[in-house]
Amino acid sequence: MNDIKTLLEKQRTFFLSGTTRKVKDRLKKLKQLKKVIKANEEQIYEALEKDFRKSDFETYVTEIGLVYEEINLFVKNLEDWSEPENVRTPITNFKGSSYIYSVPYGQVLIISPWNYPFYLAIMPLIGAVAAGNTVIVKPSEITEHTSKVIKDLISMVFDQAHVAIIEGGVEVSQALLAERFDYIFFTGSEVVGKIVAKAAAEYLTPVTLELGGKSPCIVDKDANLRIASRRIVWGKFLNGGQTCVAPDYLLVHRDVKAKFIEHLKRDIERFYSHDPKTNHDFPRIINLKHFERITKLIDQNKVIAGGVIDADECYIAPTLIDQVIWEDPIMREEIFGPVLPIIEFTEFNRIIDQINQRPEPLALYYFSNNPQKQNRIIQEVSFGGGCINDTLVHLGNTHLPFGGVGNSGMGAYHGLNSYETFSQKKSIIKKATWIDVPLRYPPYKGKLSLI
Ligand code: NAD
Repeated sequence: MNDIKTLLEKQRTFFLSGTTRKVKDRLKKLKQLKKVIKANEEQIYEALEKDFRKSDFETYVTEIGLVYEEINLFVKNLEDWSEPENVRTPITNFKGSSYIYSVPYGQVLIISPWNYPFYLAIMPLIGAVAAGNTVIVKPSEITEHTSKVIKDLISMVFDQAHVAIIEGGVEVSQALLAERFDYIFFTGSEVVGKIVAKAAAEYLTPVTLELGGKSPCIVDKDANLRIASRRIVWGKFLNGGQTCVAPDYLLVHRDVKAKFIEHLKRDIERFYSHDPKTNHDFPRIINLKHFERITKLIDQNKVIAGGVIDADECYIAPTLIDQVIWEDPIMREEIFGPVLPIIEFTEFNRIIDQINQRPEPLALYYFSNNPQKQNRIIQEVSFGGGCINDTLVHLGNTHLPFGGVGNSGMGAYHGLNSYETFSQKKSIIKKATWIDVPLRYPPYKGKLSLI
Protein backbone atom coordinates (compact mmCIF):
# COMPACT_ATOMS: atom_id res chain seq x y z
CA MET A 1 0.00 0.00 0.00
CA ASN A 2 2.74 2.43 1.05
CA ASP A 3 4.81 1.49 -2.00
CA ILE A 4 1.85 2.30 -4.23
CA LYS A 5 1.31 5.66 -2.55
CA THR A 6 5.01 6.54 -2.87
CA LEU A 7 5.01 5.54 -6.53
CA LEU A 8 1.92 7.62 -7.22
CA GLU A 9 3.52 10.64 -5.59
CA LYS A 10 6.62 10.17 -7.75
CA GLN A 11 4.47 9.90 -10.87
CA ARG A 12 2.50 13.00 -9.90
CA THR A 13 5.72 14.98 -9.47
CA PHE A 14 7.00 13.67 -12.81
CA PHE A 15 3.74 14.60 -14.54
CA LEU A 16 3.77 18.09 -13.07
CA SER A 17 7.38 18.55 -14.23
CA GLY A 18 5.95 18.80 -17.76
CA THR A 19 8.23 16.21 -19.37
CA THR A 20 5.32 14.15 -20.70
CA ARG A 21 3.80 17.22 -22.37
CA LYS A 22 6.55 17.38 -24.97
CA VAL A 23 5.36 15.51 -28.03
CA LYS A 24 8.93 14.95 -29.23
CA ASP A 25 9.77 13.16 -25.96
CA ARG A 26 6.66 10.99 -26.24
CA LEU A 27 7.67 10.00 -29.77
CA LYS A 28 11.19 9.19 -28.61
CA LYS A 29 9.80 6.86 -25.95
CA LEU A 30 7.47 5.10 -28.37
CA LYS A 31 10.32 4.48 -30.82
CA GLN A 32 12.49 3.22 -27.98
CA LEU A 33 9.71 0.89 -26.85
CA LYS A 34 9.48 -0.63 -30.33
CA LYS A 35 13.25 -1.10 -30.46
CA VAL A 36 13.31 -2.85 -27.10
CA ILE A 37 10.42 -5.15 -28.03
CA LYS A 38 12.14 -6.01 -31.32
CA ALA A 39 15.40 -6.80 -29.59
CA ASN A 40 13.63 -9.06 -27.09
CA GLU A 41 11.04 -10.86 -29.23
CA GLU A 42 12.55 -14.20 -28.32
CA GLN A 43 11.81 -13.62 -24.62
CA ILE A 44 8.19 -12.85 -25.41
CA TYR A 45 7.84 -16.05 -27.45
CA GLU A 46 9.36 -18.07 -24.62
CA ALA A 47 7.11 -16.51 -21.98
CA LEU A 48 3.93 -17.22 -23.90
CA GLU A 49 5.07 -20.75 -24.66
CA LYS A 50 5.59 -21.28 -20.91
CA ASP A 51 2.31 -19.62 -19.95
CA PHE A 52 0.01 -21.64 -22.21
CA ARG A 53 2.00 -23.23 -24.99
CA LYS A 54 1.17 -20.52 -27.47
CA SER A 55 3.00 -20.93 -30.80
CA ASP A 56 5.52 -18.32 -31.98
CA PHE A 57 3.41 -17.65 -35.08
CA GLU A 58 0.26 -16.86 -33.08
CA THR A 59 2.31 -14.81 -30.62
CA TYR A 60 3.74 -12.71 -33.43
CA VAL A 61 0.45 -12.25 -35.28
CA THR A 62 -1.81 -11.61 -32.29
CA GLU A 63 0.48 -10.03 -29.70
CA ILE A 64 3.63 -8.46 -31.17
CA GLY A 65 2.83 -7.55 -34.80
CA LEU A 66 -0.26 -5.53 -33.85
CA VAL A 67 1.76 -3.63 -31.26
CA TYR A 68 4.34 -2.64 -33.92
CA GLU A 69 1.53 -1.46 -36.19
CA GLU A 70 0.07 0.64 -33.39
CA ILE A 71 3.43 2.24 -32.58
CA ASN A 72 4.06 2.94 -36.29
CA LEU A 73 0.67 4.64 -36.59
CA PHE A 74 1.35 6.85 -33.58
CA VAL A 75 4.86 7.72 -34.75
CA LYS A 76 3.41 8.80 -38.10
CA ASN A 77 0.47 10.80 -36.75
CA LEU A 78 1.13 11.94 -33.20
CA GLU A 79 2.39 15.41 -34.09
CA ASP A 80 -0.73 16.00 -36.19
CA TRP A 81 -3.13 14.57 -33.62
CA SER A 82 -1.67 16.65 -30.81
CA GLU A 83 -2.13 19.99 -32.62
CA PRO A 84 -5.03 22.07 -31.24
CA GLU A 85 -8.02 21.70 -33.56
CA ASN A 86 -9.34 25.01 -34.88
CA VAL A 87 -13.17 24.98 -35.08
CA ARG A 88 -15.74 27.59 -36.16
CA THR A 89 -16.70 30.47 -33.87
CA PRO A 90 -20.22 31.99 -33.88
CA ILE A 91 -20.49 35.69 -34.74
CA THR A 92 -21.68 36.34 -31.17
CA ASN A 93 -18.08 35.76 -30.14
CA PHE A 94 -16.58 38.31 -32.52
CA LYS A 95 -13.58 38.72 -32.52
CA GLY A 96 -12.51 35.32 -31.37
CA SER A 97 -11.26 31.91 -32.46
CA SER A 98 -12.10 28.48 -31.01
CA TYR A 99 -9.86 25.51 -30.37
CA ILE A 100 -10.02 22.01 -28.99
CA TYR A 101 -6.84 21.13 -27.14
CA SER A 102 -6.01 17.49 -26.39
CA VAL A 103 -4.30 17.38 -23.02
CA PRO A 104 -3.24 14.39 -20.93
CA TYR A 105 -5.50 13.37 -18.05
CA GLY A 106 -2.50 12.85 -15.78
CA GLN A 107 -2.15 9.51 -14.02
CA VAL A 108 -3.54 6.44 -15.77
CA LEU A 109 -4.15 2.97 -14.37
CA ILE A 110 -4.31 0.03 -16.82
CA ILE A 111 -5.48 -3.38 -15.57
CA SER A 112 -5.13 -6.19 -18.09
CA PRO A 113 -6.19 -9.86 -18.42
CA TRP A 114 -4.27 -13.05 -19.19
CA ASN A 115 -5.62 -14.16 -22.56
CA TYR A 116 -3.48 -11.92 -24.80
CA PRO A 117 -1.20 -10.91 -21.95
CA PHE A 118 1.38 -8.94 -23.91
CA TYR A 119 -0.92 -7.27 -26.43
CA LEU A 120 -3.63 -6.26 -23.94
CA ALA A 121 -1.13 -4.63 -21.57
CA ILE A 122 0.97 -2.84 -24.22
CA MET A 123 -1.76 -1.62 -26.63
CA PRO A 124 -3.48 0.70 -24.13
CA LEU A 125 -0.07 1.70 -22.75
CA ILE A 126 0.94 3.04 -26.18
CA GLY A 127 -2.13 5.30 -26.31
CA ALA A 128 -1.74 6.45 -22.71
CA VAL A 129 1.95 7.35 -23.13
CA ALA A 130 1.37 8.95 -26.54
CA ALA A 131 -1.28 11.19 -24.99
CA GLY A 132 1.24 12.35 -22.36
CA ASN A 133 0.13 10.53 -19.22
CA THR A 134 2.07 8.69 -16.57
CA VAL A 135 0.96 5.07 -16.32
CA ILE A 136 0.74 2.16 -13.93
CA VAL A 137 0.02 -1.19 -15.60
CA LYS A 138 -1.19 -4.16 -13.56
CA PRO A 139 -0.83 -7.19 -15.85
CA SER A 140 -2.54 -10.49 -15.07
CA GLU A 141 -1.02 -12.64 -12.35
CA ILE A 142 -2.17 -15.75 -14.25
CA THR A 143 0.36 -15.34 -17.09
CA GLU A 144 3.29 -14.82 -14.77
CA HIS A 145 6.05 -15.39 -17.33
CA THR A 146 4.66 -12.78 -19.71
CA SER A 147 4.07 -10.32 -16.85
CA LYS A 148 7.70 -10.59 -15.89
CA VAL A 149 8.89 -9.97 -19.45
CA ILE A 150 6.59 -6.94 -19.69
CA LYS A 151 8.08 -5.57 -16.47
CA ASP A 152 11.64 -6.13 -17.70
CA LEU A 153 11.07 -4.54 -21.11
CA ILE A 154 9.18 -1.53 -19.77
CA SER A 155 11.91 -0.84 -17.21
CA MET A 156 14.43 -0.69 -20.09
CA VAL A 157 12.47 2.18 -21.66
CA PHE A 158 10.75 4.13 -18.88
CA ASP A 159 11.62 5.42 -15.47
CA GLN A 160 9.09 4.17 -12.86
CA ALA A 161 7.99 7.76 -12.35
CA HIS A 162 6.72 7.68 -15.95
CA VAL A 163 5.55 4.09 -16.51
CA ALA A 164 5.55 1.39 -13.85
CA ILE A 165 4.50 -2.24 -14.02
CA ILE A 166 3.02 -3.51 -10.77
CA GLU A 167 2.71 -7.29 -10.73
CA GLY A 168 0.21 -9.05 -8.50
CA GLY A 169 -3.28 -10.48 -8.18
CA VAL A 170 -6.63 -9.36 -6.86
CA GLU A 171 -5.26 -7.74 -3.70
CA VAL A 172 -2.77 -5.60 -5.59
CA SER A 173 -5.44 -4.69 -8.12
CA GLN A 174 -7.78 -3.61 -5.33
CA ALA A 175 -5.05 -1.65 -3.56
CA LEU A 176 -4.46 0.25 -6.80
CA LEU A 177 -8.18 0.82 -7.30
CA ALA A 178 -8.41 2.32 -3.81
CA GLU A 179 -6.12 5.16 -4.98
CA ARG A 180 -7.12 8.17 -7.00
CA PHE A 181 -6.24 8.03 -10.72
CA ASP A 182 -7.22 10.44 -13.48
CA TYR A 183 -8.21 7.65 -15.87
CA ILE A 184 -8.74 3.90 -15.49
CA PHE A 185 -8.57 1.51 -18.42
CA PHE A 186 -9.72 -2.03 -17.61
CA THR A 187 -9.79 -5.15 -19.79
CA GLY A 188 -11.31 -8.30 -18.32
CA SER A 189 -14.53 -9.92 -17.19
CA GLU A 190 -17.91 -8.30 -16.69
CA VAL A 191 -17.89 -9.18 -12.98
CA VAL A 192 -14.57 -7.44 -12.32
CA GLY A 193 -15.57 -4.61 -14.70
CA LYS A 194 -18.35 -3.73 -12.25
CA ILE A 195 -15.88 -3.74 -9.33
CA VAL A 196 -13.62 -1.38 -11.28
CA ALA A 197 -16.52 0.92 -12.21
CA LYS A 198 -17.60 1.14 -8.55
CA ALA A 199 -14.05 1.93 -7.39
CA ALA A 200 -13.74 4.60 -10.10
CA ALA A 201 -17.06 6.14 -9.05
CA GLU A 202 -15.55 6.94 -5.63
CA TYR A 203 -13.37 9.64 -7.24
CA LEU A 204 -15.55 10.18 -10.35
CA THR A 205 -12.63 8.85 -12.39
CA PRO A 206 -13.50 8.24 -16.07
CA VAL A 207 -13.14 4.61 -17.16
CA THR A 208 -12.94 2.49 -20.25
CA LEU A 209 -14.22 -1.03 -19.71
CA GLU A 210 -13.22 -3.63 -22.32
CA LEU A 211 -15.26 -6.66 -21.28
CA GLY A 212 -16.40 -9.93 -22.86
CA GLY A 213 -19.63 -11.82 -23.51
CA LYS A 214 -21.13 -14.39 -25.83
CA SER A 215 -20.39 -13.30 -29.40
CA PRO A 216 -22.75 -14.93 -31.93
CA CYS A 217 -21.64 -16.20 -35.31
CA ILE A 218 -24.40 -16.60 -37.88
CA VAL A 219 -24.16 -18.65 -41.08
CA ASP A 220 -27.10 -17.98 -43.37
CA LYS A 221 -28.27 -20.27 -46.16
CA ASP A 222 -26.70 -18.21 -48.95
CA ALA A 223 -23.24 -18.01 -47.30
CA ASN A 224 -20.10 -19.22 -49.03
CA LEU A 225 -19.79 -22.28 -46.81
CA ARG A 226 -16.21 -23.18 -47.72
CA ILE A 227 -14.89 -19.71 -46.84
CA ALA A 228 -17.18 -19.31 -43.81
CA SER A 229 -15.97 -22.57 -42.33
CA ARG A 230 -12.25 -21.73 -42.62
CA ARG A 231 -12.73 -18.27 -41.15
CA ILE A 232 -14.87 -19.52 -38.26
CA VAL A 233 -12.58 -22.44 -37.38
CA TRP A 234 -9.63 -20.01 -37.40
CA GLY A 235 -11.43 -17.37 -35.30
CA LYS A 236 -12.85 -19.86 -32.82
CA PHE A 237 -9.77 -21.97 -32.13
CA LEU A 238 -7.06 -19.31 -32.34
CA ASN A 239 -5.44 -18.93 -28.90
CA GLY A 240 -7.27 -22.13 -27.89
CA GLY A 241 -10.60 -20.29 -28.08
CA GLN A 242 -9.48 -17.91 -25.32
CA THR A 243 -10.27 -14.73 -27.24
CA CYS A 244 -12.68 -12.04 -26.04
CA VAL A 245 -14.10 -11.64 -29.58
CA ALA A 246 -14.06 -15.35 -30.51
CA PRO A 247 -17.29 -16.63 -32.05
CA ASP A 248 -18.87 -18.03 -28.88
CA TYR A 249 -21.67 -19.99 -30.54
CA LEU A 250 -22.83 -20.77 -34.05
CA LEU A 251 -26.30 -20.10 -35.44
CA VAL A 252 -26.59 -21.95 -38.74
CA HIS A 253 -29.51 -22.09 -41.14
CA ARG A 254 -31.19 -25.50 -41.16
CA ASP A 255 -30.93 -25.84 -44.98
CA VAL A 256 -27.11 -25.75 -44.94
CA LYS A 257 -26.36 -27.09 -41.47
CA ALA A 258 -25.38 -30.68 -42.33
CA LYS A 259 -23.11 -29.60 -45.15
CA PHE A 260 -21.58 -26.83 -43.06
CA ILE A 261 -20.74 -29.18 -40.19
CA GLU A 262 -18.83 -31.38 -42.64
CA HIS A 263 -16.82 -28.32 -43.70
CA LEU A 264 -16.09 -27.45 -40.06
CA LYS A 265 -14.88 -30.96 -39.23
CA ARG A 266 -12.66 -31.04 -42.32
CA ASP A 267 -11.13 -27.64 -41.55
CA ILE A 268 -10.42 -28.49 -37.90
CA GLU A 269 -8.48 -31.53 -39.08
CA ARG A 270 -6.72 -29.57 -41.85
CA PHE A 271 -5.59 -26.86 -39.42
CA TYR A 272 -4.71 -28.95 -36.37
CA SER A 273 -4.29 -32.53 -37.75
CA HIS A 274 -6.28 -35.53 -36.50
CA ASP A 275 -4.54 -35.19 -33.12
CA PRO A 276 -4.43 -31.50 -32.11
CA LYS A 277 -2.84 -32.45 -28.79
CA THR A 278 0.45 -33.21 -30.52
CA ASN A 279 0.12 -30.23 -32.84
CA HIS A 280 2.25 -27.30 -31.79
CA ASP A 281 -0.09 -24.74 -33.34
CA PHE A 282 -2.82 -25.45 -30.81
CA PRO A 283 -2.39 -23.94 -27.31
CA ARG A 284 -3.54 -25.17 -23.91
CA ILE A 285 -6.22 -23.88 -21.55
CA ILE A 286 -4.62 -21.35 -19.24
CA ASN A 287 -5.09 -23.27 -15.96
CA LEU A 288 -6.95 -26.10 -14.24
CA LYS A 289 -9.68 -23.80 -12.95
CA HIS A 290 -10.63 -22.73 -16.45
CA PHE A 291 -10.13 -26.28 -17.77
CA GLU A 292 -12.68 -27.57 -15.25
CA ARG A 293 -15.09 -24.74 -15.92
CA ILE A 294 -15.05 -25.40 -19.68
CA THR A 295 -15.21 -29.20 -19.48
CA LYS A 296 -18.33 -28.92 -17.30
CA LEU A 297 -20.00 -27.11 -20.20
CA ILE A 298 -19.36 -29.99 -22.62
CA ASP A 299 -22.30 -32.38 -22.94
CA GLN A 300 -20.47 -35.48 -24.28
CA ASN A 301 -23.78 -36.87 -25.65
CA LYS A 302 -23.97 -33.95 -28.05
CA VAL A 303 -20.30 -33.84 -29.13
CA ILE A 304 -19.89 -34.37 -32.88
CA ALA A 305 -16.16 -33.55 -33.17
CA GLY A 306 -13.33 -33.37 -30.64
CA GLY A 307 -14.48 -33.75 -27.05
CA VAL A 308 -11.09 -35.19 -26.02
CA ILE A 309 -9.78 -33.72 -22.76
CA ASP A 310 -6.67 -34.19 -20.60
CA ALA A 311 -6.54 -32.48 -17.21
CA ASP A 312 -2.81 -33.14 -16.73
CA GLU A 313 -2.05 -30.95 -19.73
CA CYS A 314 -5.06 -28.61 -19.48
CA TYR A 315 -5.89 -29.82 -22.99
CA ILE A 316 -9.30 -29.59 -24.61
CA ALA A 317 -9.54 -30.61 -28.28
CA PRO A 318 -11.30 -28.32 -30.76
CA THR A 319 -14.86 -29.43 -30.08
CA LEU A 320 -18.19 -29.08 -31.89
CA ILE A 321 -21.44 -29.59 -29.99
CA ASP A 322 -24.64 -30.14 -31.96
CA GLN A 323 -28.37 -29.96 -31.11
CA VAL A 324 -27.77 -27.17 -28.63
CA ILE A 325 -30.73 -25.17 -27.32
CA TRP A 326 -30.70 -21.69 -25.79
CA GLU A 327 -31.47 -23.11 -22.32
CA ASP A 328 -28.36 -25.40 -22.22
CA PRO A 329 -25.70 -24.50 -19.59
CA ILE A 330 -23.19 -23.81 -22.38
CA MET A 331 -25.44 -20.97 -23.59
CA ARG A 332 -25.54 -19.28 -20.19
CA GLU A 333 -21.93 -18.09 -19.87
CA GLU A 334 -19.02 -16.96 -22.04
CA ILE A 335 -17.25 -20.20 -23.04
CA PHE A 336 -13.72 -18.79 -23.48
CA GLY A 337 -12.38 -22.11 -24.72
CA PRO A 338 -12.19 -24.31 -27.86
CA VAL A 339 -15.81 -25.49 -27.78
CA LEU A 340 -18.34 -24.39 -30.39
CA PRO A 341 -22.04 -25.03 -29.68
CA ILE A 342 -24.26 -25.18 -32.75
CA ILE A 343 -27.87 -24.03 -32.86
CA GLU A 344 -29.92 -24.27 -36.05
CA PHE A 345 -32.35 -21.60 -37.19
CA THR A 346 -34.91 -21.14 -39.94
CA GLU A 347 -36.21 -17.60 -39.46
CA PHE A 348 -33.87 -14.65 -39.80
CA ASN A 349 -36.20 -12.30 -37.86
CA ARG A 350 -36.32 -14.69 -34.95
CA ILE A 351 -32.54 -14.79 -34.45
CA ILE A 352 -32.38 -11.00 -34.35
CA ASP A 353 -34.90 -11.08 -31.50
CA GLN A 354 -33.13 -13.93 -29.74
CA ILE A 355 -29.77 -12.17 -29.74
CA ASN A 356 -31.31 -8.87 -28.68
CA GLN A 357 -33.01 -10.54 -25.71
CA ARG A 358 -29.57 -11.44 -24.30
CA PRO A 359 -26.73 -9.27 -22.91
CA GLU A 360 -25.06 -7.20 -25.64
CA PRO A 361 -22.16 -9.19 -27.14
CA LEU A 362 -18.71 -7.73 -27.73
CA ALA A 363 -18.69 -9.01 -31.33
CA LEU A 364 -21.00 -10.49 -33.94
CA TYR A 365 -20.16 -12.27 -37.19
CA TYR A 366 -22.65 -12.68 -40.03
CA PHE A 367 -21.95 -14.85 -43.07
CA SER A 368 -24.19 -14.06 -46.03
CA ASN A 369 -23.94 -12.17 -49.30
CA ASN A 370 -27.35 -10.58 -48.95
CA PRO A 371 -26.80 -6.80 -48.46
CA GLN A 372 -30.29 -6.18 -47.03
CA LYS A 373 -29.84 -8.82 -44.35
CA GLN A 374 -26.27 -7.67 -43.63
CA ASN A 375 -27.64 -4.19 -43.08
CA ARG A 376 -30.42 -5.41 -40.81
CA ILE A 377 -27.89 -7.21 -38.60
CA ILE A 378 -25.76 -4.08 -38.35
CA GLN A 379 -28.72 -1.75 -37.68
CA GLU A 380 -31.03 -3.91 -35.57
CA VAL A 381 -28.71 -5.96 -33.33
CA SER A 382 -26.81 -4.37 -30.45
CA PHE A 383 -23.13 -5.47 -30.27
CA GLY A 384 -19.68 -3.85 -29.95
CA GLY A 385 -18.32 -4.50 -33.45
CA GLY A 386 -17.76 -7.36 -35.83
CA CYS A 387 -17.45 -8.60 -39.39
CA ILE A 388 -19.53 -9.56 -42.36
CA ASN A 389 -18.16 -12.79 -43.84
CA ASP A 390 -15.18 -13.02 -41.48
CA THR A 391 -14.27 -13.31 -37.79
CA LEU A 392 -11.97 -11.30 -35.46
CA VAL A 393 -10.27 -9.17 -38.13
CA HIS A 394 -12.04 -5.93 -37.17
CA LEU A 395 -9.90 -5.98 -34.03
CA GLY A 396 -6.69 -5.88 -36.06
CA ASN A 397 -7.55 -2.70 -37.97
CA THR A 398 -6.10 0.18 -35.95
CA HIS A 399 -8.29 2.64 -37.87
CA LEU A 400 -11.41 1.13 -36.27
CA PRO A 401 -12.42 1.91 -32.67
CA PHE A 402 -12.48 -1.28 -30.64
CA GLY A 403 -14.88 -1.65 -27.72
CA GLY A 404 -18.12 -3.07 -26.41
CA VAL A 405 -21.58 -1.79 -25.63
CA GLY A 406 -23.80 -2.42 -22.59
CA ASN A 407 -22.64 -5.60 -20.87
CA SER A 408 -19.60 -5.94 -23.13
CA GLY A 409 -18.14 -2.63 -22.01
CA MET A 410 -17.93 1.10 -22.57
CA GLY A 411 -15.48 3.28 -24.47
CA ALA A 412 -13.13 2.22 -27.25
CA TYR A 413 -9.46 2.36 -28.24
CA HIS A 414 -6.86 1.56 -30.95
CA GLY A 415 -5.06 4.18 -33.01
CA LEU A 416 -6.61 7.65 -33.00
CA ASN A 417 -9.34 6.34 -30.69
CA SER A 418 -6.70 5.43 -28.11
CA TYR A 419 -5.21 8.89 -28.33
CA GLU A 420 -8.65 10.39 -27.78
CA THR A 421 -9.49 7.97 -24.97
CA PHE A 422 -6.42 9.01 -23.00
CA SER A 423 -6.72 12.75 -23.73
CA GLN A 424 -9.02 15.27 -22.19
CA LYS A 425 -10.63 17.57 -24.75
CA LYS A 426 -10.18 21.10 -23.51
CA SER A 427 -12.35 23.72 -25.25
CA ILE A 428 -10.87 27.20 -25.50
CA ILE A 429 -12.06 30.44 -27.05
CA LYS A 430 -9.37 33.07 -27.58
CA LYS A 431 -10.76 36.61 -27.73
CA ALA A 432 -9.32 39.83 -29.03
CA THR A 433 -9.38 42.89 -26.77
CA TRP A 434 -9.44 45.64 -29.40
CA ILE A 435 -13.21 45.29 -29.71
CA ASP A 436 -15.91 44.43 -27.14
CA VAL A 437 -19.51 44.09 -28.43
CA PRO A 438 -21.63 45.34 -25.48
CA LEU A 439 -24.89 43.50 -26.41
CA ARG A 440 -24.53 40.82 -23.68
CA TYR A 441 -24.06 43.22 -20.77
CA PRO A 442 -26.90 44.57 -18.56
CA PRO A 443 -28.93 46.67 -18.57
CA TYR A 444 -30.89 44.53 -21.07
CA LYS A 445 -33.70 47.00 -21.66
CA GLY A 446 -34.52 47.21 -25.39
CA LYS A 447 -31.86 44.60 -26.35
CA LEU A 448 -34.16 41.58 -26.89
CA SER A 449 -35.37 43.01 -30.17
CA LEU A 450 -31.76 43.23 -31.42
CA ILE A 451 -31.10 39.46 -31.31
P1 NAD B 1 -10.58 -10.94 -14.94
O1 NAD B 1 -11.66 -9.92 -14.93
O2 NAD B 1 -10.70 -12.09 -14.01
O3 NAD B 1 -9.16 -10.27 -14.63
C1 NAD B 1 -8.70 -9.13 -15.30
C2 NAD B 1 -7.77 -8.34 -14.38
O4 NAD B 1 -8.49 -7.92 -13.24
C3 NAD B 1 -6.56 -9.11 -13.90
O5 NAD B 1 -5.42 -8.27 -13.94
C4 NAD B 1 -6.93 -9.46 -12.46
O6 NAD B 1 -5.80 -9.54 -11.60
C5 NAD B 1 -7.84 -8.33 -12.05
N1 NAD B 1 -8.85 -8.75 -11.08
C6 NAD B 1 -9.43 -9.98 -10.97
N2 NAD B 1 -10.34 -10.00 -9.98
C7 NAD B 1 -10.33 -8.75 -9.44
C8 NAD B 1 -11.05 -8.15 -8.37
N3 NAD B 1 -11.94 -8.84 -7.66
N4 NAD B 1 -10.80 -6.86 -8.08
C9 NAD B 1 -9.89 -6.14 -8.79
N5 NAD B 1 -9.17 -6.68 -9.81
C10 NAD B 1 -9.38 -7.96 -10.13
O7 NAD B 1 -10.47 -11.41 -16.46
P2 NAD B 1 -9.54 -12.54 -17.09
O8 NAD B 1 -10.00 -13.87 -16.63
O9 NAD B 1 -8.11 -12.18 -16.89
O10 NAD B 1 -9.89 -12.34 -18.65
C11 NAD B 1 -10.97 -12.94 -19.26
C12 NAD B 1 -12.12 -11.98 -19.47
O11 NAD B 1 -11.66 -10.79 -20.09
C13 NAD B 1 -13.18 -12.54 -20.41
O12 NAD B 1 -14.44 -12.19 -19.94
C14 NAD B 1 -12.87 -11.85 -21.73
O13 NAD B 1 -13.95 -11.78 -22.62
C15 NAD B 1 -12.45 -10.51 -21.26
N6 NAD B 1 -11.59 -9.87 -22.25
C16 NAD B 1 -12.05 -8.75 -22.89
C17 NAD B 1 -11.23 -8.16 -23.87
C18 NAD B 1 -11.67 -6.93 -24.61
O14 NAD B 1 -10.81 -6.33 -25.27
N7 NAD B 1 -12.92 -6.49 -24.55
C19 NAD B 1 -9.99 -8.70 -24.17
C20 NAD B 1 -9.60 -9.83 -23.48
C21 NAD B 1 -10.38 -10.40 -22.52
